[in-house]
Amino acid sequence: MTIGILKKTYLNFINGEWIVSSSGQVYKSFNPANTDEIIGYVQNSTTDDVNLAVASAKNALTFWGKLAGSDRGAYLYKVADILERRLNEVAECMTREMGKTFPEAKGETSRGVAILRYYAGEGMRKVGDVIPSTDSKALMFTSRVPLGVVGVITPWNFPVAIPIWKMAPALIYGNTIVIKPAQETAVTCAKIMECFEEAGIPAGVVNMVTGSGSVIGPALTENHDVNGITFTGSNQVGKRIGKSAFERGAKYQLEMGGKNPVIVAADADIDLAVEQTINGAFRSTGQKCTATSRVIVHRNVYETFKEKLLTKTKEITIGDGLEEGIWMGPSASENQLKSVLSYIEKGKQEGATLLLGGNRITGGSFDKGFFVEPTIFENVTSRMTIFQEEIFGPVIALVKVDTLEEAINVANDVEFGLSASIFTTNIQNMLSFINDMEAGLVRVNAESAGVELQAPFGGMKQSSSHSREQGEAAKEFYTSIKTIFVK
Ligand code: NAP
Ligand code: MG
Repeated sequence: MTIGILKKTYLNFINGEWIVSSSGQVYKSFNPANTDEIIGYVQNSTTDDVNLAVASAKNALTFWGKLAGSDRGAYLYKVADILERRLNEVAECMTREMGKTFPEAKGETSRGVAILRYYAGEGMRKVGDVIPSTDSKALMFTSRVPLGVVGVITPWNFPVAIPIWKMAPALIYGNTIVIKPAQETAVTCAKIMECFEEAGIPAGVVNMVTGSGSVIGPALTENHDVNGITFTGSNQVGKRIGKSAFERGAKYQLEMGGKNPVIVAADADIDLAVEQTINGAFRSTGQKCTATSRVIVHRNVYETFKEKLLTKTKEITIGDGLEEGIWMGPSASENQLKSVLSYIEKGKQEGATLLLGGNRITGGSFDKGFFVEPTIFENVTSRMTIFQEEIFGPVIALVKVDTLEEAINVANDVEFGLSASIFTTNIQNMLSFINDMEAGLVRVNAESAGVELQAPFGGMKQSSSHSREQGEAAKEFYTSIKTIFVK
């Protein structure tokens, strides 16, 4: 594979130019499959850099907000074409920077292209309704206007799809943006900025500032010229952002963690359930907010399901995601690896039975990366930490139940409510699950992870600030409604 990304220094993208941070400092981005490999150097930015980016976004609003939606759409179509042309390069950068396998990275980048095209088309769709007035001589209607400058704060686990599913709707509805990507995947975000630059996006419409979340995050959320903040990441950080945005009256949207269950009913297609549980739990090394982490199985099929799950999990090939035939890559960072291992320790201490895995993978080239074994626990109860807390790693907790009602109660017995699946061939079971499951995404005979860009995405309970992203739902966040009365 050819790659032109190694050891380059990436700058902030502000007002259409690549600019060095006022700190004069950079940090390095490296490969979690091989920590000797440096992907690039990225700016360790300051509050001043953020303020400059916000000022440039504010300045660009007048022009961008007044363009016809179809003209804004034309830019998004161009960005989509450029990203599509650079798909392999961007996907390879993603694999090297955060470790997901190359096929998954390509799939995610294609998703980014499709999202850009979907929202490009939104530029020509309706933004309001006519509402009959009680005054027969008046015209009353609604329209939607942009929020203004939107701050975009993103995690490392979907370094192309998440930035794009926030930026594309923000831009099409006339907002300008300042994005702060996760440190772990700032180079991949710089590649997206390059696509916007190549598409000729007007100066200031899209800005990127890289650096530490604890510096850039507050600088962005507390800046009075930032009218909206959209965040995806952990609950701890999300709540802090929500509070600070609320206090100064800015609009905010938080998509956070999950503890997603799969229910395997007594009448399930067991082979399908096993295959989909493995995909949901271990693809992307379990680092999806919609990843399967609890598997609640009916007693009648428990042993069969467990044996097949163990057999299939043992077949998973682990290594550098750029290599042919590798199914699962490393954890994305050392912190992530440590956190996963400490959850595994807690699981053992609190009395769960470790059936498979549980260790860091070492020896040979594994020593240079953050690899962890796919891990399966059984005898897990609701009060255990590994049942309640998001692990964000390849770890499954198996729970045995006697009835479907019990399964749904167990599935709901957590603070999160992002995604949930059931495997069953019985329509009544499906309907009970659909009605009673407390989750924003409810899936039948399909893995818990997996979303379509044209449908609303988001969680219930502690998983979200209760807004929805993607599809038409994105309009609710990125615009304000104006009710207009003309006489
Ligand atoms: P994170 O630590 O919360 O970081 C997310 C982003 O917030 C990063 O850009 C981070 O910057 C930044 N940040 C850190 N401290 C901040 C502060 N005080 N103020 C403002 N921003 C701050 O989450 P992560 O570890 O990157 O990602 C994993 C989490 O994301 C998991 O909990 C997962 O469930 C969640 N997630 C949710 C969804 C969803 O849609 N529900 C999708 C994907 C992931 P740094 O990189 O500098 O720390
Ligand atoms: Mg982080």
